[in-house]
Amino acid sequence: MQLLRTRLLEWYEATGQDFPWRTARDPYFALVAAVCAQQTQMSRVLPTFERWIEAFPTLEAAAAASNADALRTWARAGYPRRALAIRDAARICEEQHGGRLPSDEASLLALPGVGPFTAAIVRCFGFGLDAVAVDTNVVRLLGRLLGGDLQPARESSPRDIERWARELLPSGEAARWNPALMDFGAAVCLPRPHCGSCPVARWCAARPAFEAGAEAIPLRRQAAFSGSDRQRRGTILAALRDAGTPLTVRRITARLGAATPEEHARVRMLLAALERDGLLWTDAGWCHLGEPPTNRRRDDERGV
Ligand code: SF4
Repeated sequence: MQLLRTRLLEWYEATGQDFPWRTARDPYFALVAAVCAQQTQMSRVLPTFERWIEAFPTLEAAAAASNADALRTWARAGYPRRALAIRDAARICEEQHGGRLPSDEASLLALPGVGPFTAAIVRCFGFGLDAVAVDTNVVRLLGRLLGGDLQPARESSPRDIERWARELLPSGEAARWNPALMDFGAAVCLPRPHCGSCPVARWCAARPAFEAGAEAIPLRRQAAFSGSDRQRRGTILAALRDAGTPLTVRRITARLGAATPEEHARVRMLLAALERDGLLWTDAGWCHLGEPPTNRRRDDERGV
């Protein structure tokens, strides 16, 4: 076990990625990065992270952001509820935790947009605590290495993955160890693994099967984005962001190419869903980005 840990850490020192949130020891940076990374490829996380931190460099600045400002900053990063989740989490920290992110897991998990992975990232990168952060790359690596499963996302039990992650974690090293596993899973123990150049192959339970020519069963592909309601929601928000002013419902309907009564009904349904999520509001046939003025926090309510 010790040698295996050493090899993985050596690999990370030589080839790991040097993202700002990994070394800043700033819980807010860690929170923003982890939320940006949810359901998103790592290559797309950095630009969103940098844009957000430039606009809202502190937890206090994030707490003061309006829905519209948060959504403009989030831009086309996808799943825009995440922008509001960071802002709402910042407000809760302001109101309940003295303007700081809490370090204990239960309090972090009570924040919007924070699940076990995000809580672990905040705890290990932000506070230097020993927490295990398990993403899809880590599941694949641990399930193969210790369980001998070829497609761990389907074959390994979450309980086993969690146990292996805790057993392997070197004490006091979580801020290096977690990114080492994530990067290794993303670069070496890929869906089609590079066992021939793997520095921990000699300890890997799945290696014999891969070397005998076995292949991991592909995971089900995500539903197509093109033509989906997710794409239409993105188009509506992008139109409002780009316009910088309210747009008529009629114009948005035209932008989506809705022609039939069914398509018009679909647009109305999408607008209602976006309004429920706090991403836009409608009034007398006009669409506005963000939330209605009556919902916004007034400065005097924040004491500034
Ligand atoms: Fe992954 Fe292959 Fe290395 Fe095992 S030997 S950890 S399957 S890359």
